[in-house]
Amino acid sequence: MSEAAFPCTQCGLCCRNVHLAEPTRHLDRGDGVCRHYGDADKRCAVYDSRPDICRVDRQYELHYAQHYTWERFVAVNIDACHTLQSLEREV
Ligand code: SF4
Repeated sequence: MSEAAFPCTQCGLCCRNVHLAEPTRHLDRGDGVCRHYGDADKRCAVYDSRPDICRVDRQYELHYAQHYTWERFVAVNIDACHTLQSLEREV
């Protein structure tokens, strides 16, 4: 099991760009934002029962634990976070 929780900053960018990845595209409400994302409170309306694809630790256990250490997996995902943040700044 993972040693430390994923250091999510709750920026919401992954929830606001679900159209960019095939595994989350089904959540797109039509403008790239997840249909469960609250524009007003910037929170997930189904957080406690959110899909497995939204659970970074669950994804690790299901698909990546055989290939990467948790630390490496976190680093790769943080790179993805930074890419989204860079794209957001360019808009
Ligand atoms: S279900 Fe929740 S955690 Fe998953 S993308 Fe939508 S708002 Fe984000």
